[in-house]
Amino acid sequence: QASKECVKIDELQAAASRVIAELTGAEAGYVSCGAASGLMLGTAACIAGHDVRRMERLPDTTGMPNEMIMAKDQRCGYDHAIRAAGAEIVEVGLCDYLNGSMRPVETWEFEAAINERTAGIALILYVSDPKKERQLQEVTSMAHQHGIPVLVDAAASVPPLENFKKFIALGADLVVYSGGKAI
Ligand SMILES: *Cc1c(COP(=O)(O)O)cnc(C)c1O
Repeated sequence: QASKECVKIDELQAAASRVIAELTGAEAGYVSCGAASGLMLGTAACIAGHDVRRMERLPDTTGMPNEMIMAKDQRCGYDHAIRAAGAEIVEVGLCDYLNGSMRPVETWEFEAAINERTAGIALILYVSDPKKERQLQEVTSMAHQHGIPVLVDAAASVPPLENFKKFIALGADLVVYSGGKAI
């Protein structure tokens, strides 16, 4: 049936955006090719904002703020999606040998890494838990004082469906979900 219909993709995305906004409480939504794609597009948005000249140049970020701050214990293979947009990852946190593992990265450590080259902060929730949600809430309220957006990778956080609303409510600027995970 779809093969017989013609639709303008930007009109379809605009309609999808309205549905996603209603489901999530976000201002808008976008259907991407998956969470990895969402991370790349979200990072591009952090770097370019509404500036079409910047969009056009990506992934060349010469002269643009392009640093994405990430916690050391949240680095993973999906970093690549963030770097693909032209970002440079700035890692914070300490791998504490004396404690036998990482201690959780604290809000002041994210804050200390903010400078004029910062494009955003990326938090990788993967599967959400109360500790990460507390970190999200603290980090977003700090980041917003500096005018810095927070991109959240919540790839495997749905189901439960309530997580479509939760991270936006906790202050996230952009949340990425995977539609393929459960399949
Ligand atoms: C699976 C996963 C992704 C990628 O999801 P896709 O929808 O397959 O692109 C990104 N980030 C995390 C943390 C993931 O677990």
